[in-house]
Amino acid sequence: SESTPDLVVVGSGFFGLTIAERCATELGLRVLVLERRHHLGGNAYSEADPETGIEMHVYGAHLFHTSNEKVWDYVNRFTSFTNYQHRVFGQYDGQVYSLPMNLGLINQFFGRSHTPDEARALIAEQASEIETSEATNLEEKAISLIGRPLYEAFIKGYTAKQWQTDPTKLSADIITRLPVRYNFDNRWFNDKYEGLPVDGYTAWLTRMADHPNIEVRLETDFFAPGHEYSADTIKGTVPIVYTGPVDEYFGNSEGRLSWRTVDLEAEVKHVDDFQGCAVMNYNDQDVPWTRIHEFKHFHPERTYISGKTVIVHEYSRFAEDDDEPYYPVNTAEDREKLLKYRELAKKEPMVLFGGRLGTYKYLDMHMAIGSALSMFENKLKPHFAEGAALHSGGVDE
Ligand code: FAD
Ligand code: UDP
Repeated sequence: SESTPDLVVVGSGFFGLTIAERCATELGLRVLVLERRHHLGGNAYSEADPETGIEMHVYGAHLFHTSNEKVWDYVNRFTSFTNYQHRVFGQYDGQVYSLPMNLGLINQFFGRSHTPDEARALIAEQASEIETSEATNLEEKAISLIGRPLYEAFIKGYTAKQWQTDPTKLSADIITRLPVRYNFDNRWFNDKYEGLPVDGYTAWLTRMADHPNIEVRLETDFFAPGHEYSADTIKGTVPIVYTGPVDEYFGNSEGRLSWRTVDLEAEVKHVDDFQGCAVMNYNDQDVPWTRIHEFKHFHPERTYISGKTVIVHEYSRFAEDDDEPYYPVNTAEDREKLLKYRELAKKEPMVLFGGRLGTYKYLDMHMAIGSALSMFENKLKPHFAEGAALHSGGVDE
C-alpha cells in the first residue's frame, strides 16, 4: 500500500536517525522509525529542568567531539556548535586537581614544581616497575604508564567504583591511552572539533528526523506483539536496520551480554554555582558516587536564572534486567557470546545491525554517526539505488 515503508529502523538514537535521514534525503525512501521510549534521540536526548530551565542530559552528560571531517560536515547540517571545551577536575584526599594528568596535577600532587623534563623523568622512574608491553590487566597497564603513586590516587579508587571489579581483573584496554601531559594543557579531548549544540541535543535530533518521508513512532517496541510493525509481522518482508540490543533480538539465546548502568540523582541547589565546573570526579574510593555534574556550566553563553543550579550525582553499577544498558562490560565470556550473535546476525535475512547496542560496542556519538554513514554508503545505498543484495554483513565490525 501507499503507506508501506521502504525501510524500518528500530531505534531513534544517532545511529538510527542518521540512517533514516540519509535514506529519506538522498534516496527518497519512506522510512519508519520505531522507538520504544516516549521520546526520540536515544541516549543523547536532553530536556529542560522544569524548575530552572537548565538543559539536562537525561541519560548522562554528552560532550560532542570529533576529528572526522565527514562527520563534522554532516552534523553541521542540523546544528551549530558552541565553543565549549570540556575540562574535568578531580577531588582526592581533600584537594582538587585538574585532570587529565598534566604538569599542574603532577606539581600539586608531589608538592613542588617540575619542568616538563623533570616531570617526565620522575614519572618514567615511577613507572619502571612494569614494562607496558608486559602489562596483562588494567592495574599493571596503568602503573606501567604513570607509576604507582598516581595510579593509587587517581585511577584505583575511581575505577573500582566505576567497574566494581578488581582492577587486576579488568582488561588493560579500558585504559588504552591514559594521557599524561607534560604541560599545563587540561583539555579533556584531543579532537580537532568540539562543542555543544547551540540549542540543545533534542533540537538537533529533532531536525534530523524532520523530513516528510520520515515517520517516528514513539512508545512502540519492535518486539511487542500484535502491532502493525512488530517483529513477528514484518521480519523478512521489509529491510530493517536494528539498533537495539543484539542479544535481545535473538531472545538471549546465547546468554545475556553484560552491561554497566549508571544511576543519576538530580537535585536543585539554591546557589548560583555549586562546584565551579561542569564535571567533578571523586577519586577517593570511600566517596560512593563517581562524579557530580553541574549542567549549567555546559552553557556559559546562556542566561539561566540566578540563585539556583541543578547537580547530578552519578553512581555506577552492573545492569539488571530492567536497567538501561550503558557501558559494555566486555569480559572474555561476553566476547564469546558476541561472536555467536554476530554469526546469527549474518544469517538474518534483510536485517542490518548497528549502533552501540546492536554491536555491543561503546561508541561515542561521532563514532555512531560515522558508522551509520558507512552503513548507508556501503550497504543501503548499493541495495536501494543499484539493486545489490542487502545481504548479511550483519554486525558492522
Ligand atoms: P542509542 O542512543 O542508545 O539509541 C538506541 C535507541 O533504540 C534507544 O532510543 C532505544 O530506546 C531504542 N530501542 C532499543 N530497542 C528497541 C526496540 N525493541 N524497539 C524500539 N526501540 C528500541 N558520546 C559522546 O560522543 N560523548 C559523550 O560525552 C558521551 N557520553 C555518554 C554518557 C553515557 C552515560 C552514555 C551511556 C553514552 C555516552 N555517549 C557519549 C555515547 C552516546 O550516547 C552514543 O554514541 C549514542 O547514543 C549512540 O547512538 P545509538 O543510536 O547507537 O544508540
Ligand atoms: N578513570 C579513572 N580516573 C578518572 C577518570 C577516569 O580511573 O578520574 C578511568 C576509569 O577506569 C574509567 C576510564 O578511565 O572507566 C574512562 O573514563 P571516562 O571518564 O572517559 O569514562 P566515561 O566518561 O566514558 O564514563
